[in-house]
Amino acid sequence: MIPTLAEIFEEFNDLDAEDQSLFLLELGDDLDEFPDSARTDENLVHGCQSQVWLTACISGSGPDSRMQLVADSDSAIVRGLIVILQAAYSGLTAREIRDFDIQSVFRALNLQQHISPQRRNGLRGMVERINSIAAAQVASCSSSVDSGPNVAERSRTSVAVTLPVSAAFDVAHIRGQFPVLNRPLAGGIAPVYLDSGASAQKPQAVIEKQREVEEQYFANAHRGTYQLGVRIDEELEGARSRIASFIDADSPDRIIFTPGTTAGLNYIATGWGRRHVGPGDRILTTIAEHHANFVPWQQLARERQAQLQLIPLTDDGRIDLAALDELLSAPVRLIAVSGMSNMLGTINPIAEIAQRARAAGACVVIDGAQSVPHLPVSVQQDDVDFLVFSGHKLYGPTGVGVLYGKAERLDEMDPIFFGGHMIDRVGVSDSTWAKAPAKFEAGTAPIVQAIGLGEAVRWTEEVGLAAIHAHEQSLVRQVFEGLQQIAGLKIFGPGPEHRGGIVSFCIDGIHPEDLAALLDERGVFTRHGHHCTMPLHAALQVTGTTRVSFAAYNTSTDVEQFLAALQRAVSILRR
Ligand code: PMP
Repeated sequence: MIPTLAEIFEEFNDLDAEDQSLFLLELGDDLDEFPDSARTDENLVHGCQSQVWLTACISGSGPDSRMQLVADSDSAIVRGLIVILQAAYSGLTAREIRDFDIQSVFRALNLQQHISPQRRNGLRGMVERINSIAAAQVASCSSSVDSGPNVAERSRTSVAVTLPVSAAFDVAHIRGQFPVLNRPLAGGIAPVYLDSGASAQKPQAVIEKQREVEEQYFANAHRGTYQLGVRIDEELEGARSRIASFIDADSPDRIIFTPGTTAGLNYIATGWGRRHVGPGDRILTTIAEHHANFVPWQQLARERQAQLQLIPLTDDGRIDLAALDELLSAPVRLIAVSGMSNMLGTINPIAEIAQRARAAGACVVIDGAQSVPHLPVSVQQDDVDFLVFSGHKLYGPTGVGVLYGKAERLDEMDPIFFGGHMIDRVGVSDSTWAKAPAKFEAGTAPIVQAIGLGEAVRWTEEVGLAAIHAHEQSLVRQVFEGLQQIAGLKIFGPGPEHRGGIVSFCIDGIHPEDLAALLDERGVFTRHGHHCTMPLHAALQVTGTTRVSFAAYNTSTDVEQFLAALQRAVSILRR
């Protein structure tokens, strides 16, 4: 007999962390027998380390049909997770299941703490399978597109009844914290901001934090031992520690403040690359990289007479792992890929790539500009050598970013800026360097921005990256559904299950710039052009595309307004 969600919560709350893990294991004992006939390849869930079969018994048809999940696994913990899923979805219709914010259940149970990142992938695979069965049911009988309640209403109606409200992903509450999004444009319309891939908006908390620093205790950092100096050091180093734990670095000393992703990647190409890449060495990257993760390697290869090679992509814009294996069969000095493509939206399997690359002796550099703000990251689990990202895409300020490096990589990297703070001793004819991070932070750091970024990270952690990712994926699915209705429209990149909140497309006979102008008339802000991925656009044989990109604050209403403005623009431009 499966317990109810309320019973599971009650038990969980009464237990300490160790007993909670045990309880999760024992939950699996409640699972009903799974028929052997259903152990088919079709019912196997991908992305799980263990074997998981999942299907549903459906009574009725269409959005109001009832779905009962049937699943099994050879792993006891996964069996426990299945029971949680069964309890959460029990008694719901297909439509309710599709709209259910399951991440809030996982957050309330603090599942992150109890399951490994690989298991989290598997759990995500199960949820995607359930959602796709539910979505197929919803679509099966509804001739018109089902608008459903918006996400804010969903969180309130379907989750708040079983969870503390604070645990629910309440997009209306989130959006309310972003002043720019709540300021009407000329004409009184609210902005539909779909360009977070370029820069995200900032929540009030980040704006206030920067103001607090400027108004209350600003001073230079690592200089004065007076009261303001002590406070500013505490705040700056507090931000560093928070960021270290956010990406699961083993020490705050691995976190170097930079001006942004571009600066971080150039730092590695120059500081590490010039010393460790030599004639004939091979550097791997992909054609889908942002120029910031392409040109530095191209120039390094030219300068050092090394070879820059491209890892082939699959037709739907994912890294071809078999082709990567072939490239890695000979020594490779460095591999540089993004965690998530800023044009295709593809999420790259970083842990898998890093594991393969390490076996070939390559240094693994990850451009996390798009992935770090949208997906949970663990540099230790992924075992990457370097990870870089920018503050302004992570709800934080411009002018600050992060370069993470493993201890040994930072030891073997040369500083490229010389001056104050980065030295150990300076003599007339020679100098020695401080240890990281100071070694790479010559001069005055972007103090206010770095503290602001620490606050942005705190804010993001509070909302929860897993929940943000799930929310963005639901918006992506909604966009896909809408875009597929437009004749002559082509979406680039993989299906929603392999991407984050980015969708780029082009429409036959319509110039992206014209489209952007007409969308702008309706207060819909998209990006158009080559998105700093010229080689990729050339390979796709397009000069420019239109891109929508999401963040935690976007709603299904934003998507509806975008789709309506798009329909209007297309009919005007095709008149
Ligand atoms: N890499 C990727 C994948 C990006 O999307 C961007 C920003 N568009 C960058 C690098 C460069 O970031 P920044 O401009 O903050 O240096």
